[in-house]
Amino acid sequence: MSYKYTMLLTIWLEIHIKLNSENKMFCQCKNEQNFDTLEPNTNICPVCTGQPGALPTLSEDVLLLALKLGKALNCKINKESQFDRKSYFYPDLPMGYQITQLYKPTNTDGEVSFFVNNYEEEKKIRILDAHMENDTAKMIHEWWQSLIDFNRAGTPLIEIVTWPDFSNDDEVVEFLKELQRIVRYNNISNADMEKWQMRVDVNISIRKNESDPLWTRVELKNINSFWMIKRAILHEYNRQKTLLEKWEKIWQETRMRNDTEWISKMMRSKEDALDYRYFPEPDMPTLQLDDEILQKVKDENLIIPHTIIKKFKQEYGFHKEYINALIGDFDTLMAFLELSKQWLKPKNIAKWISGSISAYMKENFVWINNLAFDLKQLSEFIKISDEWKIMDNQMKIVMDEMLKTGKWAQEIIANKWFDTPTVNDNELEDIIKKVLANNPTIVEQYKSGKTSTLWFFVWQVMKQTKWKANPKIVWEIISKIL
Ligand SMILES: [Zn+2]
Repeated sequence: MSYKYTMLLTIWLEIHIKLNSENKMFCQCKNEQNFDTLEPNTNICPVCTGQPGALPTLSEDVLLLALKLGKALNCKINKESQFDRKSYFYPDLPMGYQITQLYKPTNTDGEVSFFVNNYEEEKKIRILDAHMENDTAKMIHEWWQSLIDFNRAGTPLIEIVTWPDFSNDDEVVEFLKELQRIVRYNNISNADMEKWQMRVDVNISIRKNESDPLWTRVELKNINSFWMIKRAILHEYNRQKTLLEKWEKIWQETRMRNDTEWISKMMRSKEDALDYRYFPEPDMPTLQLDDEILQKVKDENLIIPHTIIKKFKQEYGFHKEYINALIGDFDTLMAFLELSKQWLKPKNIAKWISGSISAYMKENFVWINNLAFDLKQLSEFIKISDEWKIMDNQMKIVMDEMLKTGKWAQEIIANKWFDTPTVNDNELEDIIKKVLANNPTIVEQYKSGKTSTLWFFVWQVMKQTKWKANPKIVWEIISKIL
């Protein structure tokens, strides 16, 4: 639940996402995702170390990922855009400037929908732009010296700038989770916050009434965990609130920005631009997107998690436990989507995945693709639980056994409970005939090709024998008679 705010909170975000392209942004060096495994300064070239005369060329895979993200964020993808030079001095910036997009970014005016409040409410926030820029080198400070590793220099980033549309910490975190799913599920970025592949600047401003102008913003830079973002927002809210209460008169005397000015500040004001001496990057031509690449992006079949969650809620009636279990991890989601194509009941699939399977995965630190059984076996299991009308607690025993041994559900059912059949064959045949006689419509269904109904009879017979027959034999006899 979100914290109870007594004053109006306005938040906007700047999010840096590291693309998982093959190459760095402007050179052919590999775009390494895990720097820890790499010897410092081994993945570099004249371009990304800013040697005189070396010229940048935009990598095509970087551009494609950027456009894919633009599409996923419902941005306008501009046919013509441009790179700008942001100059400042710092040892981690060998060229003395960063190449970014300030004046004419490629992706502008987007919007992202997501759920808040345990998927009860929908929220939409606007995206100002999602622009490309290159990352700096990495500085390592030790007490007697500072070291620079250029492996990271020139790796591609997308900076997403939102409008001030967030009004509490929950909305911020739920949006970031949706964004993380978008970039991960569409293979745009690994977005691992611990590895700084996704980092967030949070801008916060509070006021008493809707009609009050927005006060100065406070920017909390480079936060890389949801928990820290929540904490930082609460802390900053309380700090500003105390100031506002204590210094009310002084604040009111201060010349305040009006909304339009404030928004232009948000879009980076002239002062900001002057500080960094922004100007169009002379080494890069205007970026003109041809029809071929635009068509390629148009044809991209993107996975939008919010749309899937909406379907889960509206079509399948899933509650939050089911949604959480399915949407949090890509492979699990794909497994569910695959199984739901096979005429299995979606609720039944979700029930088993979010129940025994999720618990087992958490406990044993495994993913759905590393379980002892595969998707075909899971499909068979769910089919049996759909059609046999076996009690859930009995199916749970079967599932636990599958998780342990990787055996097929039928095999477990046949061997586990019924290995000492105590019903003789004549008795069994009588029971079978009775069951068939009592269910003429289902017999018809079987004869017209719906062979899965056989399991219904097997189950009925098993019930009648008080689970003392061998279902394999039952199955054989029924299929012989029919
Ligand atoms: Zn390079």
